[in-house]
Amino acid sequence: MASIQVLTQELINQIAAGEVIERPASVVKELVENSLDAEASSISLEVSGAGTDVIRIVDNGSGMDEHELFLAIKRHATSKITCFDDLQAIRTLGFRGEALPSILSVGRATVSSRKASTSQGHYIQIDAGTLIDHGIRGMPEGTIVEVRDLFFNTPARKKFLKTSATEQRAIIDVVSRAAISFWAVRFSLVMNGRTVMNLPETDSLKDRAWSVLGKQLKNQYREFFQERPGITIHGMVGLPAEARPTRAGIYTYVNSRSVKDYILTSAIIDGYKGMLMKNKYPVAVLFVEIDPSDIDVNVHPTKAEVRFKHPSAVFGIIASTVSQAVSPQKHDLYEEERERGEGPLQVREDRESQYEPHVWTPSQEGFPFSDAGVADIEEDFYSSKKIIGTLFSTYILLQDTDFFYILDQHAAHERIMYEKLKVNIKEAETRSQVLLNPILLDLSTPEYAAFEEITEPLQALGIECSPFGDRTIAIRSVPPLLTDANIQSILLDLLHSVISGSLNSTDHFDGMIARIACHRSITSGSRLADEEIRALLGDLDRAENSKTCPHGRPLFKKIGKAEIERWIGRRP
Ligand code: ADP
Ligand code: MG
Repeated sequence: MASIQVLTQELINQIAAGEVIERPASVVKELVENSLDAEASSISLEVSGAGTDVIRIVDNGSGMDEHELFLAIKRHATSKITCFDDLQAIRTLGFRGEALPSILSVGRATVSSRKASTSQGHYIQIDAGTLIDHGIRGMPEGTIVEVRDLFFNTPARKKFLKTSATEQRAIIDVVSRAAISFWAVRFSLVMNGRTVMNLPETDSLKDRAWSVLGKQLKNQYREFFQERPGITIHGMVGLPAEARPTRAGIYTYVNSRSVKDYILTSAIIDGYKGMLMKNKYPVAVLFVEIDPSDIDVNVHPTKAEVRFKHPSAVFGIIASTVSQAVSPQKHDLYEEERERGEGPLQVREDRESQYEPHVWTPSQEGFPFSDAGVADIEEDFYSSKKIIGTLFSTYILLQDTDFFYILDQHAAHERIMYEKLKVNIKEAETRSQVLLNPILLDLSTPEYAAFEEITEPLQALGIECSPFGDRTIAIRSVPPLLTDANIQSILLDLLHSVISGSLNSTDHFDGMIARIACHRSITSGSRLADEEIRALLGDLDRAENSKTCPHGRPLFKKIGKAEIERWIGRRP
């Protein structure tokens, strides 16, 4: 082992950058936060490439003089706190004093700034943490930071970046989250020469929310406000009909800081109890204003998480207020339940399991095809079995001589839909059908970015859409299998899968078909008649791959007679 020594400042910064600066969007987040802390009323961003080529931010905030500029790039230099007590009362977005030095250690950057009281600005130029140049420059009041060639000196980090489209979406998300909270600030974002966001300053959350979340929400939301000692919450919630397939439409803030907090998100969802379909999540904007001494913001290097001193109380007030806002009638019932002790006041450790969809992995026990012998199944594998019945309106129970099968009806149907869609697309004669009246759909900024990413594979699927003005698209034709489907909701489902990263660019096509199949399939919980089960089994036998659902989950669990006998104790 080499002898022990103190790390160089450069290396320390690079290590810190590993925590704070994960991807281009982290740079954008930190720089936007700095501009907001400097009380800028206008923030303009320009990004090229995936954000690794250039990120440039211009603000009209308080600026820095030469001395401050040199201090700002030093590690643990901050103007925002001076003592431990300040840490207990943070009102600014930053406070750790490590964002700038971290960013500067993993790219080539120029920071220029001019304070209101001075007649000229100063700049410093830094390459991978090393000062290259500095001097005087003419510029308006405020600060300009330009970061080029991000991660050029940390190739490992660069290698872990996702596709440009994904990184760009992450940037849009960061700016959207900040823009909702600071609606009085003008934001603009230009990506590769195209204006992606242009948000004039406004005096209400609502105005800003329409611009970011999409106009379709305009008549589909409720506002809420609730005050208790030490805490105030306010914001807006979309009606259940506007629910989305992911949590991407939930925006949560603590003292104006955008946080991804489990308690807050679960509390919002809890407020919709009984009103959302399975795997649907609301659109919501929640602001929590809380006494800074009742939270710890210093639990995460990127400050994306907070810790509450009284999580149950926070959960309770949010869930109850949201419930009241979304459905005043149901709210009474909700309160009753809460009093019986099943309600939100206990935040259990295992609450996660209530909301997280069950994720199946091949290593999991019970995968019926783990033994090679079953890999190929006979032509009438399914239809030759005797139907015993259905269980929980979700599983079809089948039997043959020595085995008992529990078949997941939703997964089975999904597999069939998937294969039909695939065939449907391949067949030349079943071309997509042009809609007499195109269907218009208003999208949010992240949705629109996702749409642009999958326009082509959508077209290959027979779903033809074209831009129709400001973030509105017109759906012009659909494939025959989907003529009677709710195409808007299918499309939104696809866009949200792209946004959440569950649909990635390499498997767009297959992935999209799988999503649509899932969307169109009979849900678990709907009871099937015997003839319907027969038809399903026949379809399964005709399917090319009838062992797993399109996501790779097994369709059934097979249990041997011998195994049952062991359970019962007939066999040792
Ligand atoms: P922190 O934000 O945690 O204080 P940073 O490294 O992000 O740490 O920034 C260091 C300091 O540089 C800030 O405390 C602030 O004084 C100054 N600074 C950074 N960006 C700006 C800006 N856009 N305008 C004015 N001052 C800035
Ligand atoms: Mg900062």
